[in-house]
Amino acid sequence: LPEPAVEALRPEDVAALLPRPAPDAHKYTRGVVGIRAGSDQYPGAALLSVAGANSGLVGMVRYVGAAADRVREVHPEVVGAGRVQAWLVGSGGGEHAGEELRAALEDGVPVVVDADALAHVTGPLPAPAVLTPHAGELAAMTGATRAEIEAAPLRHAQQAAATYGCTVLLKGRHTLVATAGRPVRATTTGTAWLATAGAGDVLGGLVAALLAAGLDPHDAASVGSWLHGAAATLAGGGGPIVASDVAHAIPDAVRGLPTR
Ligand code: AMP
Ligand code: MG
Repeated sequence: LPEPAVEALRPEDVAALLPRPAPDAHKYTRGVVGIRAGSDQYPGAALLSVAGANSGLVGMVRYVGAAADRVREVHPEVVGAGRVQAWLVGSGGGEHAGEELRAALEDGVPVVVDADALAHVTGPLPAPAVLTPHAGELAAMTGATRAEIEAAPLRHAQQAAATYGCTVLLKGRHTLVATAGRPVRATTTGTAWLATAGAGDVLGGLVAALLAAGLDPHDAASVGSWLHGAAATLAGGGGPIVASDVAHAIPDAVRGLPTR
């Protein structure tokens, strides 16, 4: 493949793309996002992906999965099963990730596929999708080595987008978003302090929320990644962070966008 053109979103681009409530909005018109994440072994991933989704950018967050009691205690806004406009599947999903992916795809709405669910993606997906692998997860999917992917993330992200017929958000030092027919977007926000457990779960929830709010997969992935990096920098002030801090700072990152 030829090296694809790469672009970076500017703060004003993110401000223009960000879904905002219309004056006559109600919670259903703003979008409902569903989270199928977490397991008995990894309940924390459920809490963190819900936290990323439950940062005020949609009208409602639903959670379906093994950690429902804990999610309800920590996030009183979150409700149970019902219609959604987008799903997140797989973060901390353990052995049930394959079933959760099948269930989400049956709805026909856009899906963010993360972590344990990525192993169940073997060809083009039947719904609009964003895959969110780090280099190790993409290596397990494609057979390339992790070192090969880290040496040429652009080419591997673009290749995976073609293979799976969807958007690929390849995470790491240089986070890239690739979709066939669109310029690859490089994330310019963020910090190596994001290399911390649960940061990816927060990102998955945030991208799913932006899909539910109406962004297309390429915009949802790139705007989500931009806000996630900006939130990390705001939360840490250039210093250390944990994943919950990133989720809590998402509204600050939105407030920091230029006014339009
Ligand atoms: P995960 O591997 O699923 O926990 O996701 C980790 C998150 O942290 C992703 O958003 C990565 O892009 C980000 N991240 C990890 N390592 C780095 C790094 N060295 N520099 C910047 N961001 C990073
Ligand atoms: Mg992860």
